[in-house]
Amino acid sequence: MTSDAHAAPPAPTDEVVELCRDLLRIDTTNTGDNATSIGERGAAEYVAEKLADVGITPVIHESAPGRANVVARIPGTDPSRGALLVHGHLDVVPADADEWSVHPLSGELRDGYLWGRGAIDMKDFDAMVLAVVRHWQRTGVRPPRDVVLAFTADEEAGSEYGAHFLTTRHRELFDGCTEGIGEVGGFSYTVDPSRRLYLIETAQKGIDWLRLHAKGRPGHGSMLHDDNAVTALAEAVARIGRHRFPVVVTETVRAFLEEVSEVLGIELDPDDPEAAIAKLGPIANIVGATIRNTANPTRLAAGYKDNVIPGRASATIDCRSLPGQSELLERQLRELVGPDIAIEYVQRQPALETTFDGELVAAMGAALRAEDPGARPVPYMLSGGTDAKAFSQLGIRCFGFAPLRLPADLNFSALFHGIDERVPVDGLQFGVRVLDRFLRTC
Ligand SMILES: [Zn+2]
Repeated sequence: MTSDAHAAPPAPTDEVVELCRDLLRIDTTNTGDNATSIGERGAAEYVAEKLADVGITPVIHESAPGRANVVARIPGTDPSRGALLVHGHLDVVPADADEWSVHPLSGELRDGYLWGRGAIDMKDFDAMVLAVVRHWQRTGVRPPRDVVLAFTADEEAGSEYGAHFLTTRHRELFDGCTEGIGEVGGFSYTVDPSRRLYLIETAQKGIDWLRLHAKGRPGHGSMLHDDNAVTALAEAVARIGRHRFPVVVTETVRAFLEEVSEVLGIELDPDDPEAAIAKLGPIANIVGATIRNTANPTRLAAGYKDNVIPGRASATIDCRSLPGQSELLERQLRELVGPDIAIEYVQRQPALETTFDGELVAAMGAALRAEDPGARPVPYMLSGGTDAKAFSQLGIRCFGFAPLRLPADLNFSALFHGIDERVPVDGLQFGVRVLDRFLRTC
């Protein structure tokens, strides 16, 4: 019989499973609308309690009722160095339980995976961070530099109540932060049993969501009519939807393609990178969107009665721009839609790109190789956006580095916002070991 007081503290690789499971069971579904979103408060209180429990002082910052963020700072041994921001969001996208093999809020352990909405996006990383810092506090480890932890709300709906709220209303929380790590990077892509690429996000595309507005002459649907807003809008939408923007290979994508084609023995034609990308299998759809600007029509709105020609029609286009291309993309779109269609930006956040070098990048590579001798870190560009958009506004150099070793046959990219989202338990434990090493040495 042992008493709890003398029980050895749990190993972080064991505790991470419990922490992740608990987080998966807390509903933080973000519908994009405060009226129907449950909010992150429950998860934020859980995280705050797990930090306070080991002597870290967290503060919960609510941006709206129930929309909660948690921030804490762990002092490093060398205060002269810039702080490192470690950020993860607490919200998840909705999941339809009818489509899943397990309940999306179950946190079920099955076949070596932990299942649930948020298992890879990104309660897994939140749990890893908690497991590592709890272990440090219990064993007296101090990081070399200040580590600022931010667990955020609302990443899945543009971060207005999360990272953007924190960086605009509480920017002092991030004083001294020079670099940051967060989601979508650090995961493995298997080349063969002895070699794995680890994709580290050093760039992400810009978000350029816009609305097209067409105006015409309202009228009766039975009569001749040559100034129909719906027709004008439909033509513009079709032109955009069918358009293929020119290929532009940025520094990051070039580095990625060179490394990958060398490792995989794929011939890379710099003038036709698409041929090489097509051979990448499950990650082709991540990489394929990073060699050009894209514009996908997503919503249409017009009319109120079957026989009335409306005076207005509008459409939403989800555009994503390469670094430095937002203005060019705007000109390209204006040319495509013509002078009679108005363009309104509903969201415009710049693309990010940093170099794949320096001590932080070296520390990532060393931590990965220590746990996986077959690891080869490569930089890549994310076609989506993350909280890094907000944090980079403070001058923080942001990376996607949430280390995760994945089985060769897992279609990882399909699990993001997908059905049966799940994380391999051994991958999660690998992530804890890498993160621990990295944070001790960066
Ligand atoms: Zn995410």
